[in-house]
Amino acid sequence: MSAARAPGRSLDTAVTYLSGVGPARADALRRLGIFTARDLFLHIPHRYEDASTVSPIAKLRIGDDVTVIGKVVSKGVLPTRKGLRVFQAVVQDASGLIEASFPGQPFLDRTIKKDDVLLLTGPVRFFHGRQLVPREFVNLGADEGATAEGRVLSVYPATEGFSFKQIRSLIERHLDEYLPLFTEYLPPEVIARAGVPPIGEALRAVHRPTSLAEAHRGRSRLAFEELLSVHVLQARAKALAREARAGITFTNRRELTSKLKASLPFELTGAQVHAVREIVADMCSDRRMHRLLQGDVGSGKTVVALFAALLAMENDYQVAMMAPTELLAEQHARTFTTLLAPLGISPVLVTGSLGAKARREAATLLAGAAPVLAVGTHALVQESTTFARLGLAIVDEQHRFGVEQRGALGKKGARPDVLLMSATPIPRSLALTLYGDLDVSVLDERPPGRQPVTTARRPESAREKVYAFVEKQLEAGRQAYVVLPIIEESEKLALRAATQAFEELRTGHFAHRRVALLHGRQSSDEKDATMRAFRDGTVDVLVATTVIEVGIDVANATVMLIEHPERFGLSQLHQLRGRVGRGAEESFCILLGDVSPETAGRLDIFVDTEDGFEIARADLQLRGMGDLFGERQHGETMFKVADPLRDEELNEVARACATELLAADPALSKKEHKAFHDVLRKRYARAIELFRVG
Ligand code: ADP
Ligand code: MG
Repeated sequence: MSAARAPGRSLDTAVTYLSGVGPARADALRRLGIFTARDLFLHIPHRYEDASTVSPIAKLRIGDDVTVIGKVVSKGVLPTRKGLRVFQAVVQDASGLIEASFPGQPFLDRTIKKDDVLLLTGPVRFFHGRQLVPREFVNLGADEGATAEGRVLSVYPATEGFSFKQIRSLIERHLDEYLPLFTEYLPPEVIARAGVPPIGEALRAVHRPTSLAEAHRGRSRLAFEELLSVHVLQARAKALAREARAGITFTNRRELTSKLKASLPFELTGAQVHAVREIVADMCSDRRMHRLLQGDVGSGKTVVALFAALLAMENDYQVAMMAPTELLAEQHARTFTTLLAPLGISPVLVTGSLGAKARREAATLLAGAAPVLAVGTHALVQESTTFARLGLAIVDEQHRFGVEQRGALGKKGARPDVLLMSATPIPRSLALTLYGDLDVSVLDERPPGRQPVTTARRPESAREKVYAFVEKQLEAGRQAYVVLPIIEESEKLALRAATQAFEELRTGHFAHRRVALLHGRQSSDEKDATMRAFRDGTVDVLVATTVIEVGIDVANATVMLIEHPERFGLSQLHQLRGRVGRGAEESFCILLGDVSPETAGRLDIFVDTEDGFEIARADLQLRGMGDLFGERQHGETMFKVADPLRDEELNEVARACATELLAADPALSKKEHKAFHDVLRKRYARAIELFRVG
């Protein structure tokens, strides 16, 4: 079949003009974001397999996570007792046989044929012998020797209606024809500095590699190009934003701030002093502050924010600090009440559950001209809340808010300075990449006197001993958290449910103790009441799902017992551990349960370090970025090939190159940069829209 001939061959040729692409396939390609020939060749394999990455079937052991390639020797659909239909295939390679099981996917029986060669990736479990439960599979068709000695298999992202095989053969068919049309657009000095191959060579290497190393070298060029582009765009956006960012010029009067410094019950850490200095410089400049204060749990962000607040107040401005929950807002209000008492200042609490009278009083204060420090929840951004003279907006635990809520607080005043705070430790380069126009201060030092949290992993067989240990802590007057991953018994996963654990503990081991339950299905009133009781010491053991408030400070809690630790990400475990170790007593974090050797290895990274940055890094490498951020942020989608974290070195080079490039040619308007400029404009039209200022 030969499609209508395109008017001359170019990279902008629509894919429908390529031979081998009919209307149905063109539709499928569109779903992959492929419209033109250029898009097709920039659709690169997301992974490669060769003899070194594929395991011989005979060597697989239970608990392993593996990739295998095997030919289907038999297959069929089996019903299970619970009515679930399971597609099963027995696959064979030169070394042996294994059964692969696809629960709930009986339809695969129609697409997978006997003698098809499958690439399967997933865990090996015990089920009447060894059984592979694929997380991902690719049907290679009748491709014998897919990874035979010396051969590298490129695996492309595919879609329904356009299989991996079809994509691969389409690219293979047209590669030689179109490759010469790719002309280099990166400036030569940049390519030389990064040490990556030119575009044509890179594309050949990613599509038709002769070795894994060659494939990765090709990929590095495309990753570098993305990183460079994003840095250039962001640096440019930042420069433009700076120009357009007129703001309040505060004066460092040192009236209230020096009083606070003198009356604080502790010395600031070096990191806190440094962050305060950066914030003061921002606020005293005529530009609007737009800063992220990032620091591990317990690093002392609140008091840094308080210095910023006082600087605004001594300039007769109002301050609003927004927290994600009432409990946290109340905690901040209490902290501020104590710390500011010597200065004769008391904060104003603004939450949804204020009585009518308190609400009226707060409204009067905010509408008045006197400087106030308002602490509250999203009630602060409700329409009915108005500020007469808001000069500084602070958002605590900023990642818990949506983009709009964060923005709304800043709109409550006339271009107030903005300080965002977050305990989610992300590496600096990533913060810049994700947030673009945002300066970052990092608290990378713990306040002194804080004891490390003793962390350990214990098997199921030690459960009684662990409970006895917890009991000893309770006897000494301490409190404990018991955390579980989900709330209802799920037959499939057979996890102990929080409700069930609660009943067991309440009537069993801790029958003589006050045990309370906290989970996501309770109303927020119920949750707040339980957290308050725990904070006030009228509950000894708090059984909870992960809804335990971020940032909540119960100094008397010294035990964090985590069930089914394998169900948590490392950063999540770290956040949970941060709930203890807040007082003077030694604290403990115990991971309880039997896990596979592989999971044990992952958990031990957490057991062995209390460095949130190190943990975040390991987590990112193991689980990818989505888990860390919960919601996808737009910065992330700018990368198709690169991963700013895994490609950290490349990312650093890209950043340096971007800086140099823009220093020499701020708007990339010179002739020698035109090709790159054009590519940027074309490829990142949407992103440029997002960054647009004014
Ligand atoms: P986070 O950064 O997690 O929000 P907080 O601001 O809640 O941390 O601080 C945690 C605890 O550490 C609080 O009880 C606070 O009073 C205390 N703290 C903060 N800075 C210091 C310091 N420099 N020295 C001693 N304790 C401090
Ligand atoms: Mg905090």
